[in-house]
This record gives sequence, C-alpha cells and structure tokens, in this order.
Amino acid sequence: MRIFNVKTIIVGGSATGMGVAARLKRNDPNATIVVYQEKSYVSLGACGLPYFVAGNFSDPNNLIARSITAFEENGIIIVPNTQVFKIDFENKLVYFDNKTDSYDNLVIATGATPYIPPLVGVELKNVYTLTTLEDGIELKKAMQNPNIKNVAVIGAGFIGLEMSETLSELNKNVHLFELEERISPNAFDPEFSQFIKENLEKNKINVHLSTKVTEIKGTDQVQAVVLADNSLIEVDAVVLALGFRPNTEILRNTKLALAENGAIIIDETGHTNIDHVYSGGDAATSSNYITGELIYSPLATVASKIARVIADNIANKPAKFVGSIRSAVVRVFDLGYARTGLGEFEAKKQGYQIRTVLIKDKDQTNYVNGQTDLYLKIIMDIKSRQILGAQMSGAVKAMQRINTLAALIWSKVPVDEALEQIDLIYAPPFARTTDILHIALAKLNK
Ligand SMILES: Cc1cc2nc3c(=O)[nH]c(=O)nc-3n(C[C@H](O)[C@H](O)[C@H](O)COP(=O)(O)OP(=O)(O)OC[C@H]3O[C@@H](n4cnc5c(N)ncnc54)[C@H](O)[C@@H]3O)c2cc1C
Repeated sequence: MRIFNVKTIIVGGSATGMGVAARLKRNDPNATIVVYQEKSYVSLGACGLPYFVAGNFSDPNNLIARSITAFEENGIIIVPNTQVFKIDFENKLVYFDNKTDSYDNLVIATGATPYIPPLVGVELKNVYTLTTLEDGIELKKAMQNPNIKNVAVIGAGFIGLEMSETLSELNKNVHLFELEERISPNAFDPEFSQFIKENLEKNKINVHLSTKVTEIKGTDQVQAVVLADNSLIEVDAVVLALGFRPNTEILRNTKLALAENGAIIIDETGHTNIDHVYSGGDAATSSNYITGELIYSPLATVASKIARVIADNIANKPAKFVGSIRSAVVRVFDLGYARTGLGEFEAKKQGYQIRTVLIKDKDQTNYVNGQTDLYLKIIMDIKSRQILGAQMSGAVKAMQRINTLAALIWSKVPVDEALEQIDLIYAPPFARTTDILHIALAKLNK
C-alpha cells in the first residue's frame, strides 16, 4: 500500500524506532521517515553489552545491528546526535537544537534509562551503569585496570546477574547487593532464586540479600559502600543495576497519558491517547497475554514485535500486539535460568486456583558426556487445566525447552493425557526418551 505525502517522525533510534523505520519503509517505499536519535549510532543491541565487557568480542561495532549508512541507503533519513527536547502535539511539531520539524505520524521510541538511586557518592568516578555503547566501552576499559579488584554490583535482576558473571570472569571479587530477600523476585519463584544464589556462591560471588546500600564512599574514586547497618565493604568500583525508568521526562505535563512509572500508555495497536502518536518498547506499556493487564516489560522481545505492529498500523495495515508472557532467560556462569508466563505468587494474586509441580531430572542420557541436573516448575490453572507459567534451570543448552512451555501457554491447550504424550525430540546427547516435560505433565495429570 502506498502512503503519499505522509511523513513519520521517529524519536529514538534503537530496537523500537529502527524496527518501525525499517518495516514502514518496506510497507511503503515512498514513505518519508525521519529518525531523531540522540546518539551517534542507531540500532544498538544492548543485550550484548555484558559479553562485550567480558571480552567475548573486541569490536564494539558488533553491537550495532545496522549502520546509519545502511538505513540511509534504504531512504530513511536519520538525524544523529540530536535530542528532541519538546513535542507540541497540538501543532504536530518536534523541537530539537533551536529548530522544529513537523510530522503527520509520530513514534516515540525513546526507550529507558537506568534508575540511579539518590545515594551520597553516586556521582563518584568508578560508579557505572550499562545501557549505552559508551557505557560498555568505558566499563570495559575501567575493568582492565588491575587496581580495580573489588566491585559492588547493586541489584540482582538480570543485568546484575550478567554483570556478576562478567566481572568475575575479569577476575574481580564481586559483591552483589539486593534489597529484597531473594534474587530476581520479579522474574523467579523462591526455589529458582535459591538455585541462582547457590550457583553465584559456588562461583565465589559474595551475595548480600536483604541488604540496602545507603552510601558510596570515596573522595574522587570509589573506596567503599556503606550498608544500612552502618557496616562498610571496601570496593574499587560500583555497577548500578537497579532497573529502568521509561525515558519520558519531556512528556510530563503534556496531554500524553502516562502510567505511574512514566511509561507511555498504548493500546494493542501501539497507539497512544493522542491521534497519530504511537509508542512502544522500553518507553511504553505493554499487556500481559494471559491476564490482559497493562504491564511494563522492557525487553527486546517486546520492542521488536510492537515495532512491526506500529509500522503496519501507520501503513493502514491493521495489526495488533497481543501481549507478552515475559519469557526470558539469563545465563549465570555455566547454568541458565528461564521463565515464562505467571509466577506462582502472580497467579494466586490473579485469583487462579493453581496446581504446581517442581521436577528434578537430567537433561540427557548419562552415557554421553555433559549430563546435568535440570529443574522444571509448572504452574497450572486447576479449572481450565491450562498452563499459566513455567520456570526452569539447568545447563545452558537445555534452556530452549522453555519455548515449548511458552507455546503451550500461548495456545492455551489443556493439560490432558494427549498432551502428556507430546512428541518431543530425542537423541542421547539432547534428551532422554521421557523428557522432564513429560514427567511434569504426567504429574499434573495425576
Ligand atoms: C545490558 C542490557 C542487557 C539486555 N539484555 C536483554 C536480553 O537478553 N533480552 C531482552 O529481551 N532484552 C534485553 N535488554 C533490553 C533491551 O535492550 C531493550 O528492551 C531494547 O533495547 C528496547 O529498545 P527501545 O528502542 O525501546 O529502547 P532503547 O534501546 O532504550 O533505545 C532508545 C533510543 O532513543 C534515544 N533517545 C532517548 N531519548 C531521546 C530523545 N529525546 N531524542 C532523541 N533520541 C532519544 C536513546 O539514546 C536510545 O538510543 C537488555 C538491556 C540492557 C541495557
């Protein structure tokens, strides 16, 4: 379909913004698309940053999925190093430098920024976050200094876990601090939080749960972190991994509807409450596929899908984002931890009557090298017999199994005798004839 004389401005040039731009151009090669991006690059694959810092690869350009030149060759206009600081929705104008530009359609894809706690000392040298390419380059360089021996990671979410692994691989002594009483409580049930803790401790990470860092001490450089009980732990650097806040400061006090955390409220088409204004990815809300609830899920898996939906709707090809089940996986040293759907607490809070099983098994046959323990928890709604959620831990190579569970949740099939016989792959290096999934489904049928 052709869109004549329609100009789309995209603010923010990463997964969401560039995803919209690329698909919109495919939808209509004549579309005018202008991207304002505050960085000198677009399409950063931020997910690779911990592995860049760890030294898995040395060229930071590997983190750029597609260059500005490649987009420009495709007819997409990119204005880098340019921050949009105001939007006038009445007159359809974006403001940058001392100029304005006008749009027919606007996509706000400004993403999120790491939460910086208001701690004394947070501005000291050697306090880092990890979100941008510059962050990655700076942190990697700093960690090459052998005088940095002890590092505090604050926050035990996925990035905090990945950074604990990374820093440990760089031979740093890592202290991981978490305010909650267990690891990643928003992602995992207590059993899996405990598995992760044991793994971290086995790998010599100093795990401090229920621990509040109240101050970062130092003169110019970091020297220590102070805890709520006034004790002091000497560290040479701090990595903050306390979660993300939608990058929507410029939209406060406008007519654009924002959720409590500042995320732009969108509907299933990616549309906001203002005509011709769309948003998605880390800047916006999304919905939970199971409960229909508005959620904030700043993941690349959400950003890439909503981008396609927005581009199709702008091109008058009606499309809907049906939501996510927060499927996610994290590697901590040689083990993986995966989750999908609702956790046990979440399911109960939603009013479901649930049945859960927690199975311990092996991921493959014992006579081929590499057999490891595998744990699987499934949460089922007793009434509909549908699977609501699942969590898994084990060898990294075994984690793809969670995708089968995501598909079962997605398709809302009941757990019955037919499902118990689901035909899964088997060969000695990959599985056993009766897989952990079969065992769990059979147990749910008992
Ligand atoms: C270290 C790390 C690891 C991650 N790992 C995973 C993972 O394993 N799996 C997963 O699913 N997700 C992961 N994520 C999350 C994933 O990277 C994000 O969900 C995704 O990048 C969101 O894309 P976005 O385009 O919405 O936002 P962003 O990537 O934040 O991009 C927004 C862009 O907009 C620009 N911008 C902001 N404000 C303005 C303005 N006013 N004017 C102009 N430009 C502006 C910003 O500079 C930025 O380039 C990870 C994130 C990080 C930081």
